[in-house]
Amino acid sequence: MSRPTVLYIEDEEAACRQVQDTLDKEGFEVICASTGKDGVDEAIRLKPDLILLDLILPEIDGLEVCRRLRGELNTPIIMVTVKGEEVDRVVGLEIGADDYIAKPFSPRELVARARAMLRRSVLIKEAAERQKTLSFTALEVDLPTRTVKVDGESVHLTPKEFDLLYHLASQPRHVYSREQILEQVWGYHTRGGDLRTVDTHIKRLRKKLQEGRGDHTWSLATVWGVGYKFDIAP
Ligand code: CA
Repeated sequence: MSRPTVLYIEDEEAACRQVQDTLDKEGFEVICASTGKDGVDEAIRLKPDLILLDLILPEIDGLEVCRRLRGELNTPIIMVTVKGEEVDRVVGLEIGADDYIAKPFSPRELVARARAMLRRSVLIKEAAERQKTLSFTALEVDLPTRTVKVDGESVHLTPKEFDLLYHLASQPRHVYSREQILEQVWGYHTRGGDLRTVDTHIKRLRKKLQEGRGDHTWSLATVWGVGYKFDIAP
């Protein structure tokens, strides 16, 4: 297998070099981008296997970079924050970061996170190749192409919205707690994440899928005090 490519978007040159050294020894190829704009351009050009994204960047900050990348790529993103940036952590999750690592981090921790993230994205790709389309009345969820159609019309979802819908819809009527959803859709590293992330994604999904419009036999149902399920009419 070729060396996995990591794009590190970070304006501090010393930090970039350090990560380059660490990951290079572990078999990764690390490319650095020093501004948010360069980071977005490089990510689209290189299509790396993993993106490390520093939160504090000149001009466009890490959150905005994350938002822009999420519209373009499915590449896993690990946000690099400073310890205690709780608010940004939550916002970052909502806009689609896959994991967090707080500065200062040990080389070992970084390598472990990067490996875990890559393993997860390989598993997702493999599952995508195995699985077929989920079909319900007026709803089609196609994993290999990651497209969703409602009444035959494509609906644009962010990667996380798609993952969430697919996760729930692949087990109709199964009730998932918000903790389970956060763990299974966002990855176990985000266990301490904010449960409201799940609520806001469900809300957005419902809106995008135009629930309640006419004869749909399915819904993203709230199970009070527990969580959510993809419900289908009997
Ligand atoms: Ca920085």
